[in-house]
Amino acid sequence: MKKIAILGSTGSIGTQTLEVVRENGDIEVCGLAAGSNISLLEDQIREFHPRIAAVWSEEKAEELKERISDTDTKVAAGMDGLLQVSTLADMEILVTAIVGMIGIRPTIEAIRAGKNIALANKETLVTAGHLIMPLAKENRVSILPVDSEHSAIFQSLQGNEKKALHKILLTASGGPFRGKKEEDLLEIRVEDALKHPNWAMGQKITIDSSTMVNKGLEVIEAKWLFGVDVDQVQVVVQPQSIIHSMVEYVDGAVMAQLGTPDMKLPIQYALYYPERRNLPGERLDFWNLRKLEFEKPDMDTFYGLWLAYEAGRKGGTLPTVFNAANELAVRLFLDREIKYLEIVEIIEDCMQAHHNIENPSLDQILETEAATYDRIHSRR
Ligand code: NAD
Ligand code: MG
Repeated sequence: MKKIAILGSTGSIGTQTLEVVRENGDIEVCGLAAGSNISLLEDQIREFHPRIAAVWSEEKAEELKERISDTDTKVAAGMDGLLQVSTLADMEILVTAIVGMIGIRPTIEAIRAGKNIALANKETLVTAGHLIMPLAKENRVSILPVDSEHSAIFQSLQGNEKKALHKILLTASGGPFRGKKEEDLLEIRVEDALKHPNWAMGQKITIDSSTMVNKGLEVIEAKWLFGVDVDQVQVVVQPQSIIHSMVEYVDGAVMAQLGTPDMKLPIQYALYYPERRNLPGERLDFWNLRKLEFEKPDMDTFYGLWLAYEAGRKGGTLPTVFNAANELAVRLFLDREIKYLEIVEIIEDCMQAHHNIENPSLDQILETEAATYDRIHSRR
């Protein structure tokens, strides 16, 4: 039995991870953590019998404790709960399916405790990749990508020499507003931005996909996962989301991973790597597929992607500013406090005002996050 724990078990990636666990039947779930949906968490506890369940909200944790007092599952709360789940004895793989920079500390502590990481939580790598990747190496743990593009890149790198890699072709669907110009985006409502053409995901990443900030985060994520410069990562719009990403080698050969859009494939691949398991689901039918389209991304309209390249090139605390400003701006947009186009305006403003710190410590990253939030709040 493989032993895993999941941070963010009630979310889009978390629930699909549990589907993979259910379908395979040979994985033990040692720990689960969620934000506040204790009803779903209770169902998951009753089905998977983890040793510990963590809830972010103290109040909800108390409520859960009462509800499951007939089980053997221990309940913990807050950051302490996340850290307990992340470092559980004899757990082998931590699935980081939580949203945002809150995942940094649990990921770092899991690596220190020798756990392999199945990483969905890209914000953590974007902001602290320079700390996480060397730490993983030092502790001989693997960081296995769950993000579909990075899984595709990882799969396309199998069996080839790392030094022969010339560039990464990171595909993007282009989101719901592909082809639109700034003037078309002035009155975008939350409902419009939450309609992704190909993927059903959590709210934050769905908004990020619509602004292409998600692709920007993924460019920086690729930099850390695969040890390349951001300028070796070329974004290619592939509207059907059939090609999940590609790599080009020095001899011009391009390797790609294709498939119907289904996050269970990268999740399962990360959990069983290097083994490939059967996965039920729709297969690609090339006779009916007929065509695949490609476009250059419009970085004038979707300049959040351009800002990400800038942040990725300069490094230091700038990617933290990019990410933290986006996290708060997306929350404000979802709460209908700002307009759609203000999301990227806020990111740009915070990046312009920032004095970059090279090679920041974890404390400096967290201070930068707090300072970015303060700036946004103080200007409103
Ligand atoms: P989601 O909003 O659907 O789920 C997030 C989960 O994290 C929930 O279980 C929530 O309760 C939990 N959570 C949030 N804050 C928490 C806290 N402070 N403490 C404990 N738990 C907390 O999000 P998602 O779409 O599953 O995305 C998760 C991560 O995976 C994100 O970083 C996202 O960018 C990445 N990702 C998602 C997809 C996808 O298809 N959904 C694809 C690629 C990458
Ligand atoms: Mg992705």
